[in-house]
Amino acid sequence: MTQKIISRNPATGEILRELDPTPQDSLPGVFTKAKAVQAPWTALSLKKRATYLLQLREALVNQADEIAALISRENGKPEFEALSAEILPCLDMLTHFAERAPQLLRDQPIPLRTAKHRKSYLNYWPVGVVAVISPWNFPFMLPFAEILMAVVAGNAVIFKPSEATPLVGLKIQELFGLAGFPQDLLQTIVGDGTLGAALVRQKPDKIFFTGSVATGKRIAAAAAENLVPVNLELGGKDPMIVLPDADLDYATSAALWGGFMNSGQACASVERLLVHESIAKPFIDKLKEKMTQLRVSGSGEAFDLGPATLESQKEIYARHISEARQKGATFELGGDFSADQRHLKPTLVTGPGIEELSIYNEETFGPVIALTTFKTVSEAVAKANRSIYGLHASIMSRDTQLAETMAKQLEFGTVLINEVAYTAGLGETPWGGVKHSGIGRSHADIGLYEFVHVRHIQKPRASFLVFKSWWWFPYSPYQKTLFRIWLELYRKSGIARLRALSHFLWNLVQFLKNEKRI
Ligand code: NAD
Repeated sequence: MTQKIISRNPATGEILRELDPTPQDSLPGVFTKAKAVQAPWTALSLKKRATYLLQLREALVNQADEIAALISRENGKPEFEALSAEILPCLDMLTHFAERAPQLLRDQPIPLRTAKHRKSYLNYWPVGVVAVISPWNFPFMLPFAEILMAVVAGNAVIFKPSEATPLVGLKIQELFGLAGFPQDLLQTIVGDGTLGAALVRQKPDKIFFTGSVATGKRIAAAAAENLVPVNLELGGKDPMIVLPDADLDYATSAALWGGFMNSGQACASVERLLVHESIAKPFIDKLKEKMTQLRVSGSGEAFDLGPATLESQKEIYARHISEARQKGATFELGGDFSADQRHLKPTLVTGPGIEELSIYNEETFGPVIALTTFKTVSEAVAKANRSIYGLHASIMSRDTQLAETMAKQLEFGTVLINEVAYTAGLGETPWGGVKHSGIGRSHADIGLYEFVHVRHIQKPRASFLVFKSWWWFPYSPYQKTLFRIWLELYRKSGIARLRALSHFLWNLVQFLKNEKRI
């Protein structure tokens, strides 16, 4: 018997629903339907496709409260975060891509330097059927943004939400129906990693994966078998650098939100704090004071931190913490679980050997900040870059010029100065990482282009401009001389180029008089 997919409320353990997983042998049929609906969808004009995004926006606003409550129930995050960091970004992205996609995806001319008698342009066409495989930590915003970019670019989508948050996934499906999208343009399948692997084996035209590095590697390897292109949005161990001139109140608030929003279960959460040694003591004191004010779910109506969404996350927290304790790290605050075992208390860990520990180097993905210090700007940059990850980094300083110079030395897909993480929810700016944080970009112009192929088309400017090219057969001495002079047109000196041009024109006339292309 196939195992049910069980949706639970992580704050209470209550079962929300048990779902039958999508049978693997139904996948060929799912692809057939996707291909059938994709052809007429692509034939619609870009403007028409964009209007569907605006219909979807309306459907989303209509259901915003209900969806926020569902996200909170299934993932555990506060409803406020569901509204502000999941639903609002989607509304913004729908608006952005409805406006921008028709401009970005229409034919783009390419100016030609030499072949002036011809005209080149780029023409985009959708990749076809896109597989979107997503995690549980931002179960709405992450797949929603990818799906909307995919469909406006003319693709059909097969979407596999995380097995931990299937109801949020199915809600996205429902919204597409309400917005009037053609049936089957988006198809949501429910299941765990084995269904994800089966989806990959079906050779979608593109895989857009968000999740862990381990799964990302597995998907990339499986996709390589069929040369299926993949976009990988993977993990992070994001540093925040605090320079000595930073406003302590501002910087500690930024670190607090950056480290503990979504209970630290964010690819972009601040997991490493690099603080200048001269301000480390007051910084730690202030941050601790603010951390004690954070309210966890279960402590009343309003709360700032939800529970750990998954049991398996708690095992990672426990492993990192126990190693840190054994190796003598200093727990400034936290390091233990709440009485009901659902929350790891907000944790700040530091100490001289911290940089060697898993808690500082591996993704903890929880309410844990590992803090170290630095003496010089170059040391801060080197320490920040010393990581297998490269997703997002932040710098706190009043000297934005210095911060900008540092930003250009940081090996990360995003660097924010005096802000943290929030651009992951913007439509206009790209998101994605380097090193083990992934391949490719999501959102923004560059992200939209991930969902299309590009073809270069070239044609004569006018039909009378069609003549046999000078480099065609037969090869002859006249032809060789002409081309040899052509090389002289690339000389640095203007006079030499002018001389070469007159030479070139004279030889061109000789060539045309004496030669016939076969
Ligand atoms: P995960 O890798 O365990 O699972 C992600 C998805 O992949 C799930 O839907 C899962 O069912 C599926 N999956 C598992 N094995 C598969 C396989 N062999 N083939 C195909 N699909 C398979 O990740 P998670 O625990 O759900 O998410 C947490 C991770 O996601 C963290 O590492 C976090 O940093 C990362 N993340 C990255 C970003 C980003 O934008 N870079 C955003 C959010 C989360």
